[in-house]
Amino acid sequence: AAPLKVCIVGSGNWGSAIARIIGTNAQKLQRFATTVKMWVYEEMVKERKLSEIINTEHENVKYLPGYTLPENVVAVPQLREAAEGADLLVFVVPHQFIRKLCDEIVGCVSDKARGITLIKGIDEGPEGLKLISDIIREKMGIDVSVLMGANIANEVAAEKFCESTIGSKVLENGLLFKELLQTPNFRITVVDDADTVELCGALKNIVAVGAGFCDGLQCGDNTKAASCGVADLITTCYGGRNRRVAEAFARTGKSIEELEKEMLNGQKLQGPLTSAEVYHILKQKGLVDKFPLFTAVYQICFEGKPVQDMITCLQSHPEHL
Ligand code: NAD
Ligand code: 13P
Ligand code: CA
Repeated sequence: AAPLKVCIVGSGNWGSAIARIIGTNAQKLQRFATTVKMWVYEEMVKERKLSEIINTEHENVKYLPGYTLPENVVAVPQLREAAEGADLLVFVVPHQFIRKLCDEIVGCVSDKARGITLIKGIDEGPEGLKLISDIIREKMGIDVSVLMGANIANEVAAEKFCESTIGSKVLENGLLFKELLQTPNFRITVVDDADTVELCGALKNIVAVGAGFCDGLQCGDNTKAASCGVADLITTCYGGRNRRVAEAFARTGKSIEELEKEMLNGQKLQGPLTSAEVYHILKQKGLVDKFPLFTAVYQICFEGKPVQDMITCLQSHPEHL
């Protein structure tokens, strides 16, 4: 089959970060055409067109400064020209612009094309809430997957490890986009509940605003987490003792026991012990392989596994293989 042509619709902070991944994968993989078009909403930056800066300096100096873009990613300021003939469309613009953009490209893309939206947001339709993926699907008549995750663009650009979820109503399309988007440090799980994935991605932004308010009001970690649906998980990962001692463990190489004595003045950690209890149960039930994170934490705390293996464990999570 002919290699699939990819168009990235958008080139902001996240659009540019994902362009680094797509460009690199399109170069490596036969399945995708090497040249990737990236639509750039044209603007002047220091008296030069942004699209020209990107095409000569291979850097989006305004929205993702400090990171190069692969040379096979070509900035195109005309949307229809960028999208023309694309097999795969990656939508990554602030959500308020999506309707207008879809209206513009309708007709120059085959209904056999496949789309994925990285856009976090919702829209109001006449009958209430409307998903961005539904807007694209309805306007363009193509299948649309979604990709959402804890993926701050600059960290992804810096190739710091993270995970993301693709939600897809057509599994085959989700898997195709996984191939286009996954790297050793950007690990993807594909699930069929696309609407939930998209809603979570959109709604968390409201929670983030609430969290910012808490910080501005100088509230505690508990208060900040109270605004989140996953309150305890968030707070423990930022403010807790388990987290604090584990950080010291990774930095100093001292044992958990020693650090607990040194740092907690008689208070007790629950996490390492719980990891041991859970590990024993998992072992009994033959489920160790299904819980790599719990297992790695146990082995690092108690079996001398190097703490760097934490990242290796996340990279080879069974969901990502
Ligand atoms: P951004 O926040 O950097 O927005 C700037 C982009 O919007 C630029 O490309 C600009 O040219 C474009 N723009 C400005 N005016 C426009 C107009 N009138 N019409 C069309 N485009 C216009 O964009 P982003 O960070 O790439 O975010 C896109 C989506 O990705 C958002 O829904 C966001 O929630 C989501 N997202 C962002 C991040 C992140 O860390 N930045 C991470 C995950 C998801
Ligand atoms: P912000 O838009 O709040 O920076 O969030 C980016 C994001 O969605 C990270 O996953
Ligand atoms: Ca290729």
